[in-house]
Amino acid sequence: MIGNVLKKVFGSKNERELNKLKPVVEQINALEPEMQALSDDELRAKTQAFRERIDQGDTLDELLPEAFAVVREASVRTLKMRHFDVQLIGGIVLHQEKIAEMKTGEGKTLAATLPVYLNALTGRGVHVVTVNDYLARRDTEWMGSIYNFLGLSVGTVVHGLDDSQRQGAYNADITYGTNNEFGFDYLRDNMKFSLESMAQREPHYAIVDEVDSILVDEARTPLIISGPVEQAGDRLYEEIKPQVIKLKQHQDRIVHTMLDDALKGLEKEGEADSTLELLLKVKRGDPKNPRFLDLIAKQPGLKKKMEKLEGQLSTEKLLPQIDQDLLCTIDENQNLVELTDKGLKLIYGGQADDYIVPDLDEELRKVDENDQLTSMEKRIQRRKVEAFYLEASERFHVTRQLIKAYWLFNKDVQYVVKDGQVVIVDEFTGRMMPGRRWSDGLHQAVEAKEGVTVAEENQTLATITFQNYFRMYDKLAGMTGTADTEAAEFKKIYDLDVIVIPTNEPMIRLDNPDAIYKTEAEKFKAAVEEIKQLHKKGQPVLVGTISIDKSEKLSTMLTKARIKHEVLNAKNHEREAEIVAMAGQKGHVTISTNMAGRGTDIVLGEGVKGLGGLHIIGTERHESRRVDNQLRGRSGRQGDQGSSRFYLAMEDDLLRIFGGERMSSIMERLGMEEGEPIEHSMISKAIENAQRKVEGHNFEIRKQLLKYDDVMNQQREVIYKQRREALTGKSLKPAIEEMIRELSEKITDGFADEKVLPEEWDWKGLREAAYHQFGFRLNTDRDTMDGLTRDGLAERIFESTVKIYEEKETAFGAEEFRNLEQMIVLQVVDNLWKEHLLAMDHLKEGIGLRGYAQQDPLVVYKKEGFEMFMDMIERIKQETVRFLFRVQIARPEEMAAKEKTRQDQLVFSHGGEAARQPVRRSKKKVGRNQPCPCGSGKKYKKCCGR
Ligand code: ADP
Ligand code: MG
Repeated sequence: MIGNVLKKVFGSKNERELNKLKPVVEQINALEPEMQALSDDELRAKTQAFRERIDQGDTLDELLPEAFAVVREASVRTLKMRHFDVQLIGGIVLHQEKIAEMKTGEGKTLAATLPVYLNALTGRGVHVVTVNDYLARRDTEWMGSIYNFLGLSVGTVVHGLDDSQRQGAYNADITYGTNNEFGFDYLRDNMKFSLESMAQREPHYAIVDEVDSILVDEARTPLIISGPVEQAGDRLYEEIKPQVIKLKQHQDRIVHTMLDDALKGLEKEGEADSTLELLLKVKRGDPKNPRFLDLIAKQPGLKKKMEKLEGQLSTEKLLPQIDQDLLCTIDENQNLVELTDKGLKLIYGGQADDYIVPDLDEELRKVDENDQLTSMEKRIQRRKVEAFYLEASERFHVTRQLIKAYWLFNKDVQYVVKDGQVVIVDEFTGRMMPGRRWSDGLHQAVEAKEGVTVAEENQTLATITFQNYFRMYDKLAGMTGTADTEAAEFKKIYDLDVIVIPTNEPMIRLDNPDAIYKTEAEKFKAAVEEIKQLHKKGQPVLVGTISIDKSEKLSTMLTKARIKHEVLNAKNHEREAEIVAMAGQKGHVTISTNMAGRGTDIVLGEGVKGLGGLHIIGTERHESRRVDNQLRGRSGRQGDQGSSRFYLAMEDDLLRIFGGERMSSIMERLGMEEGEPIEHSMISKAIENAQRKVEGHNFEIRKQLLKYDDVMNQQREVIYKQRREALTGKSLKPAIEEMIRELSEKITDGFADEKVLPEEWDWKGLREAAYHQFGFRLNTDRDTMDGLTRDGLAERIFESTVKIYEEKETAFGAEEFRNLEQMIVLQVVDNLWKEHLLAMDHLKEGIGLRGYAQQDPLVVYKKEGFEMFMDMIERIKQETVRFLFRVQIARPEEMAAKEKTRQDQLVFSHGGEAARQPVRRSKKKVGRNQPCPCGSGKKYKKCCGR
């Protein structure tokens, strides 16, 4: 009821917006005859004329109707496509920095040419952001005919270009490319050592295609550029792997017996407490155990009771009792693993105690307080303690990551192994993401599990979220078939309004209700049956799955049923666009992981119209309704016939993990027969609720990520700005002199107490400090220092230092010295910024724990982050000056060679664990109240430090 009323209100708002645009559309239409009458050259000459009008102060809004009319005419002449009125509306919406929701197949690619052309007239560059390289290339070429006809240049940024190719692409009037390329180029530019080698210009106007995928789905994890750290702990993975395998085998046996006992118990005495406990143990020991999942699917009530028990035990802090029979526990929902005492013994044998990570602070204190030791011995002893601590905590971390790899990460679901590499599969698109890595050692763990080479662990050098990258543009707009469900998020995060644009022809696709089965096997059987029926009469079917292995499973079943089909997944994505384009031909059956091959137009084949058009089968509901809608949307384009249906099973992750009690009780009430589907509005509601829950959760993750990145963003802006300034070639001399002044004062403050007489100042300390900072011995002869005030002393230090500074300048030659200053500033800034990034990661990690102390974690993060940042700025000054006063002539060739190796070692990543767990290295000492380096999220003293 309320929903309907709201929809009406919303609908009418949308309508009002659309109505406002109608007169403009009429204006554009009215200009058509005039445009048609122009020769090609005359039409082309419009571009120059528009540019002149802009120079004379005309606004883009004033030019819009005529410019759009020009583009439409150019499109008719080059592509033989005349923009529909709804595409004109889409174009205006995009120009107005909003999101145009236009259904799949409505021609968003063409609609975008209108605002792209108009905004490119300013000469400041327009970016069109696509979801993959294939589409960037396709659209460049396809729409390029219009732009080229009108005298505008187009470039493409895709994977594998060098710097000069990138510059070329960015200097074009219009640049097509993926979100990753744009984002990484931004980060890369800000790591460069000269302005000329930077690729991008100032961000001006971006249109993001499939905007929901990019600004919502992919925005959950930041882009990260990382480089190798000095020590890699690879051997540990290989070393611990056999132990973890042993652990898995033992645990499998234990879980197997428990399950047997539980089944027997069920038979004998029903759902007795002891049986539920057993089942709970199974769940905690192996949540993905197939027999267990099967049982739960068949008896949904069990699950409910089990979870209730778990909740109770958890509040009563009795879970350890349950866990003590296991070797390790796995929390699938939170992606956490724990070793029990038994597990520890198994892994570390008799020497478990030796491997319990010691409390570093305490151990060190013990060493310090030991009067038996000489200071030299103490130092040696401290080294030993630190080394031991490092090794032990590293071991722990590696063990946990390996456990995750073995229990929670499945080949062909979360990743594939291709050419000896573990390649992450994007959970939303089913696409492979070569070159990307899970952070925090998880990737190494999976590599060790699969027996492929273990790469080095990396450290963050630069990072940004898509949210903050895209907010840098002066103008941002987006288009997609499915934005409306996420309208609130677009508004809140990006301040983007969503305008729903009507289809050119009415939509007539028939969306059937979900069919829900008890088990996955029944579900697939039913889906195959439907495919068979439709295939018999020649109707094309497109089947969506949520993972590669589900695709393959279904494919095997279809092969058995002798149904010819194509499988479209991340493994052969070179061809996927081609294959999916054929999905609407008569008799075609196409299996595709979610949205693989998207952006490709599916045209219905001859005779398919009479058969009901393209039928879509979803074999599982996705976590987000929007993604389900994307799958559906592939049918029914431009008023075509079409239909869709989703097949679900109680075993599906979504229902299992997020369905909750309500789902189980409904199922119980309705009763389920073997092989019989149920279609019930309550179930559909429950599913929708489950999806909403996950969507809400994911939005929270993105909001949280953004809040934290916002803090970083301010700092990033300051640093990047400073870097750029250093690169402009402007002399840094005034800045350096200012640094010297500040440092002189600081040193004075530290050693010359105004309340005591100058004779009593700590002259020795002062000389040492000055030497450390400026690299020369200050002359502190009695007679020269007599009668000095503190300010006078500072001034004296400053003057002496500047004198030396200028001598150095003369020795090097002013020009050389300016270059040197620039290099040093950049190096110092980059180094300290890198360290700062790591430190901020540590801070973020630890901060969750402060919640106990009644402090808002974000406030703490902001405050401490700011302090750390100011510290870093201070250190930048100190180190710059220190280096400058110590430096020998640096050879440019050496710098270049160094820079080259550095570039070659960078890793670009987005996705995986990065967002959920900040990059972390356990090489630093950990205090008792700091978060444990093992990644458990607990305080160190409550975890490994116990
Ligand atoms: P979307 O991105 O909105 O899903 P596309 O841009 O891929 O849609 O276009 C879908 C199909 O519609 C393409 O084959 C394109 O050639 C066609 N098309 C788009 N606009 C027009 C038009 N104005 N006239 C004729 N065909 C069009
Ligand atoms: Mg498209």
